[in-house]
Amino acid sequence: MSQNDKPVNMHRRQFFATVGAAAGSVALGTLVTQSSNAADLPPLKEADSLAVTMNYKEDTTKVDGKKFPNHKADQTCANCQFYQGPATGVGPCQIFAGKSVTAKGWCQVWALKK
Ligand code: SF4
Repeated sequence: MSQNDKPVNMHRRQFFATVGAAAGSVALGTLVTQSSNAADLPPLKEADSLAVTMNYKEDTTKVDGKKFPNHKADQTCANCQFYQGPATGVGPCQIFAGKSVTAKGWCQVWALKK
């Protein structure tokens, strides 16, 4: 090993450290973009025509028990098979494409996630 190897090794280490950090930044950026895309969907409003048709409620505790006697308060979007979001907050629903629904919401096509 000559005296000249040291600067080359230092440059090599800096290069790999920089490349590693950049790759990590790209991966983190992708994760942030994916999660913010779901959160950026416009919210489904109870007054939207399809929401009215499906009797969507932003809060499952507000569902009319007389109209839906089989509804239970523990039935929420968060545990519905059509929901693709986090356990709290909002997320996409396969039934209402392009909109976000609330994790604590409910509609008449609710089906337990398996
Ligand atoms: Fe919520 Fe499921 Fe209805 Fe979508 S289909 S709004 S996730 S209950």
